[in-house]
Amino acid sequence: MGEALPPANPAVIPIADLRARTHVPRVSATPRPATGVLTDALGRPLRDLRISVTDRCNFRCSYCMPKEVFDRDYAFLPQASLLSFEEITRVARVFAGHGVKKLRLTGGEPLLRRHLEVLVGMLADLRGADGEPLDLTLTTNGSLLKKKARALADAGLKRVTVSLDALDDAIFQAMNDVGFPVGDVLAGIEAALDAGLGPVKVNMVVKRGTNDGEIVPMARWFREHYGGAVVLRFIEYMDVGETNGWRMDHVLPSREVIERIANVWPLEPIGHSAPGETAERWRYLDGGGEVGVISSVTQAFCRDCNRARLSTEGQLYLCLFATHGHDLRHLLRDTDASDAQIGGALADIWAQRRDRYSELRAAGQAYAPGGRKVEMHYIGG
Ligand code: SAM
Ligand code: SF4
Ligand code: SF4
Repeated sequence: MGEALPPANPAVIPIADLRARTHVPRVSATPRPATGVLTDALGRPLRDLRISVTDRCNFRCSYCMPKEVFDRDYAFLPQASLLSFEEITRVARVFAGHGVKKLRLTGGEPLLRRHLEVLVGMLADLRGADGEPLDLTLTTNGSLLKKKARALADAGLKRVTVSLDALDDAIFQAMNDVGFPVGDVLAGIEAALDAGLGPVKVNMVVKRGTNDGEIVPMARWFREHYGGAVVLRFIEYMDVGETNGWRMDHVLPSREVIERIANVWPLEPIGHSAPGETAERWRYLDGGGEVGVISSVTQAFCRDCNRARLSTEGQLYLCLFATHGHDLRHLLRDTDASDAQIGGALADIWAQRRDRYSELRAAGQAYAPGGRKVEMHYIGG
């Protein structure tokens, strides 16, 4: 539902969300010099940009792209809709000038995007407002990592996060729903470490009744084989998108994850590595490294959320649970807006940001009632 649009004004560029078709405020495209810091309506700085480079994936994890919905008839984005590497780099450069320090490539499965190492090389050349290189990382299901780790590292990638939900092949293959074997993901993790992309973070989404029996075996495997070189993180199953049939009773609270591990190997909390970091860290008392928990359902961390997400086709989303985006691709392709004007639009969008979905969910309050939440494979995790 939208408000009446003001009369056309050449200084105002309408930002339309083409995919979700929801109302988006008009944004002034007045040039604005980059100051190195943007603060939203709740006082949160912009520091982290997640870039989805493809909406496609070779897995069909039921919590993200259930097979029944994402079948052969599903209309993935056509190639022409995707932001080009040049467009992505331009947006990232503008964001960096406005305070972004960290870029994460994601998807869909980012390693399905052809020649991704070329994009990595382009992004590795960017500098933040402080003149320092950006922290450049990538989240992958690991299926193609063995083949690509070396080229990505050579191009300037700093680290990778690999998703792995179980060590037991039957459980893992059922969860990825395409019969992909655990061994190939483990080989990808090895290749990433060999290429210097460590410490590797391994993300396990915990779904009660499906893979919670794998918590201790996963902890054991990564402690015993890698110590501190691999950091295992447990993610609470989230109600992202509208297709995964999420239920609260499928969420295993992080508190229970920690209890189960600490019953075998005592742990002590070591806090968060930086404000806005999603994982709460715990250290094994016996020196076996650390684990992390990401408790977006039971302990919302919106207060420090400094992340924005750029969809595969250039829509800017301000929250993982957003119902609409801001069409940056329109600015890039259909106008002659300068970088400073795009920066001005970004500053206006960020200044109006009030998103705090997880906090509202925790408080039992509705968020954008009637709106459809965007799917995670489209905006990136
Ligand atoms: N395909 C890549 C991968 O799986 O790592 C990158 C994209 S994926 C959307 C990014 C992260 O989101 C993965 O770690 C995945 O496990 C996580 N994720 C997806 N759906 C989720 C959900 N419903 N709840 C919690 N985490 C989820
Ligand atoms: Fe693909 Fe990653 Fe989503 Fe699984 S979580 S379906 S690997 S995008
Ligand atoms: Fe950030 Fe939205 Fe997640 Fe809150 S719910 S932490 S605002 S992405």
